[in-house]
Amino acid sequence: MSEVSDSMPFCAAKVVIIPILWLLAVLGLLMPGAASAVERNAAPAPSPYPIVTDARVGGDENQTRFIADISRKVDLRVFTLADPYRVVVDIPQVLFRLPAKTGETRRGLVKAFRYGLIMQGGSRIVLDLIKPARVEKAFVLEAAEGQPARMVLDLAPTDRESFLRDLKPTPKAPPPEAARKPEPAEKADPRPLIMLDPGHGGIDNGTRAASGETEKALVLDFALQLRDQIEKMGKYRVAMTRADDTFVPLAERVRIARANHAALMISIHADALKKTDGEAQGATIYTLSDTASDTEAARLADAENRADVIAGIDLSSEPDNIAGILIDFAQRETKLFSLHFARTLANELKTVARMHKHPIKSAGFKVLKAPDVPSVLLELGFVSNQQDLKQLTSGAWRTRTVASTVQAIDTFFTTRLAGAPAGPN
Ligand SMILES: [Zn+2]
Repeated sequence: MSEVSDSMPFCAAKVVIIPILWLLAVLGLLMPGAASAVERNAAPAPSPYPIVTDARVGGDENQTRFIADISRKVDLRVFTLADPYRVVVDIPQVLFRLPAKTGETRRGLVKAFRYGLIMQGGSRIVLDLIKPARVEKAFVLEAAEGQPARMVLDLAPTDRESFLRDLKPTPKAPPPEAARKPEPAEKADPRPLIMLDPGHGGIDNGTRAASGETEKALVLDFALQLRDQIEKMGKYRVAMTRADDTFVPLAERVRIARANHAALMISIHADALKKTDGEAQGATIYTLSDTASDTEAARLADAENRADVIAGIDLSSEPDNIAGILIDFAQRETKLFSLHFARTLANELKTVARMHKHPIKSAGFKVLKAPDVPSVLLELGFVSNQQDLKQLTSGAWRTRTVASTVQAIDTFFTTRLAGAPAGPN
């Protein structure tokens, strides 16, 4: 974390320090983090996107300043969200090359902040606030006098009433690529479509191992390999809610599955436990229910459903109640098919992968709420568990597990086409 001396936009002291930093860097006397920051400034990798190289928070609870260094000036749009209190900064797509653990330390009015891609062409920074705050200033400084361009936000405390009054209606983000391009071959191609839904992405890393592996990357690797193997069979079409490191809101994932008339949706995630939560391990398959099957399932659904909050999506207008849909007949049939696939998948996976001691569970996952698409959420394992992590990062394990999943999909459709699914038991 760099110093936050930018209480004045242009700080003369820093200009003097820079030649000394150079000298120290050449002599190899700086901390590794600081040295690499200097190197980055000296020889930035050629990139079509501006690069954010540092971000930091300074000040106290009466006056907090957020600063991000960026390789060139960009336009920014700032808005606030309530419950929880957040400040969202939208900028054109950039590369974030920030030191590890950036944004994890509480300072002033900022509890923590996150950053990443929110959609193709757009990046976002989300600041979690400890209490309501007002954005007093938001501006971007041109690079000058040896300093990179900087985004600067000044925050001051306010009360809840004023915070809510100042909320502006947030413009809806355009739908991601996948949503704008419906499958053109759909009518001509009668093969069932399988929607693969790798969890999180972009600004939302999902869970993270102590050694740094992120859920969003692990599950994307898995989903891409699964897509390739299903396509190889030739019997099914495959679409993905995301095929790169982009954020997709939960409701959008459901919408994409429905718009493509998916015959099956598989959400893919990796769980993590805090030390205080004990030590669970292995893969678990979740289906939708209005009451969670146990406390662990409830905890997980809460965590997974927070994805939109983490990404700075406005949820204030979103109806959260699915009770009306759950009594619908289509939903009941969908539920049976979902359960049938969950059992089929558990039977296949247990031959090749470590399974949770209760491998089939249910809870109120938002991403499983398509009333007409059988959907399961596959938690591949726990990144917080050493043995699970070893599997999750192993190519051999992935190949085996993907093959079993393909087998389960084929068994599911073969038996489904042959007759009704097995009833609940
Ligand atoms: Zn997840």
